[in-house]
Amino acid sequence: MIYADNAATTKMSETAIRTMTELMQTGWGNASSLYSTGQKAKEYLEKAREEIAAVIGASPREIIFTSGGSEADNQAILSAAALGRRKGKMHIISSAFEHHAVLHTLDKLQKEGFAVTLLDVHEDGLVRPEELEAAIREDTCLVTIMAANNEIGTIQDIRRIGAVCREKGVLFHTDAVQAVGHIPLNVEEDHIDMLSASAHKFHGPKGVGFLYAKRGIWLTNLIEGGAQERGKRAGTENVPAIAAMAAALKEVSSRREENTAHLEVMRDRLIEGLSRIPHAALNGDPKKRLPGNVNFCFEGIEGESLLLLLDDRGIQASSGSACTSGSLDPSHVLLAIGRVHDVAHGSLRLSLGEDITAEEVDEIIGAVTEVVAYLRSFSPIWRDLMSGKREFIL
Ligand SMILES: *Cc1c(COP(=O)(O)O)cnc(C)c1O
Repeated sequence: MIYADNAATTKMSETAIRTMTELMQTGWGNASSLYSTGQKAKEYLEKAREEIAAVIGASPREIIFTSGGSEADNQAILSAAALGRRKGKMHIISSAFEHHAVLHTLDKLQKEGFAVTLLDVHEDGLVRPEELEAAIREDTCLVTIMAANNEIGTIQDIRRIGAVCREKGVLFHTDAVQAVGHIPLNVEEDHIDMLSASAHKFHGPKGVGFLYAKRGIWLTNLIEGGAQERGKRAGTENVPAIAAMAAALKEVSSRREENTAHLEVMRDRLIEGLSRIPHAALNGDPKKRLPGNVNFCFEGIEGESLLLLLDDRGIQASSGSACTSGSLDPSHVLLAIGRVHDVAHGSLRLSLGEDITAEEVDEIIGAVTEVVAYLRSFSPIWRDLMSGKREFIL
């Protein structure tokens, strides 16, 4: 079995599993309790906060633990909106291909009277910092742009985007769920005011993540209750999961350079192999992309059928995002980079894990090549393309 859907979720690392099971035995106390079992849990919690803060260049008090990336995105955006509303600043800038945790939150704000500008991400899947600069208005209260895209893997120039926002005095949030642990990020150097991350995208457990909010930013609570997380996120902390997240993040970060070097070679080998399939195209910039991300469109086929047939051969990948699969709409990310509906339907995302080998990459190339040819052999669209009734786009 080859698991090539690490953008959807990753397998927990041995270190994370060990930390979590250990703490289920030794760190199960309520971190708000004053006796020793509670104080032990509190120690683990604060150690995790320090370790996570260190990885992104933050200070521990700027980290709030959440239930994952979606919650962190919601809290960051709603907080900035609440601050904006108070000052009469009700304009938000984002990009057309953000995760739905961002886009749906923006939809909600739009219904409440906010104006939203979605920047073009162009064919290469990259925001242009000068277009961002031009879009910032007097009443802009927030810029939210993802560090790396979850479908096509493109990596934004976060430092330049952050610098533009800082210069204009506008809050900058980045959904860094795909980036944290995988590419270098530093909230100080990159001028990031708020950042979202999720443990299960870097070999930690599911259902836990964090929000970084720069000191002085007033956060809105999504969940009211006790005084946990400095009153910003009520609910008894899941200390074992939080500690496992910290352990997983420390580990991937310490190995980041070697992981990147290996993954980039594997990624480029896969891209080269799949590029030999006729009427196929890579989605997103070939180099400014996550080290393990490959995303292709194949003309004349359905991505869903491709997926199922690959699964039969022991290869697990994705078409569009986990959030879009199950619906018939093509991926909003592929439409945002200018792919037309027909082509966007024939997409395949392969997100490689750090332990992928060259033999496995070659196996993927062989399987995809055969399955694409097989699906085209009885595709009415492909027949029309071949007979000239329809024109090739790719
Ligand atoms: C996975 C993902 C999320 C959601 O994170 P959860 O922890 O699953 O809620 C948000 N943004 C991006 C870019 C993601 O890849």
